[in-house]
Amino acid sequence: MSGQGRALSGGCLCGGVRFLLAERPDGVVTCHCGQCRRFHGHIGAYITVPRDTVTFDADATLSWYRSSDIAERGFCGRCGSSLFWKGDGKSEIEIAAGSLDQPTGLTTLRHGYVAGKADYYEITDGLEQFPASSEPE
Ligand SMILES: [Zn+2]
Ligand SMILES: [Zn+2]
Repeated sequence: MSGQGRALSGGCLCGGVRFLLAERPDGVVTCHCGQCRRFHGHIGAYITVPRDTVTFDADATLSWYRSSDIAERGFCGRCGSSLFWKGDGKSEIEIAAGSLDQPTGLTTLRHGYVAGKADYYEITDGLEQFPASSEPE
């Protein structure tokens, strides 16, 4: 079975949240904004998939926090794993790449919100950087 075609799955540290993805994302996009820094303890690294392609095998401990007036963030209320970013009115969901089961076969594509980057690290991988949203214009 090739890594490219394999369905992705993931979950939190304790297993209270487990999910399966019917669709493979293009890759991983990082977010260096201050909210992701607090939520993840460092940068955010996300895949984006349509919400209706995500199936939950377990969600008993899934909790949501309204982190801004445009989005909620999903996490495990038992083990504290940071898992999801869900924008209001969007048909897609962003999933923390670190929650995916290995191997993912994915690569990192670009960096977003680098204007909000913390001062204790540098971005040195040569990938494209966007000051705000990581969506290319
Ligand atoms: Zn958990
Ligand atoms: Zn962010």
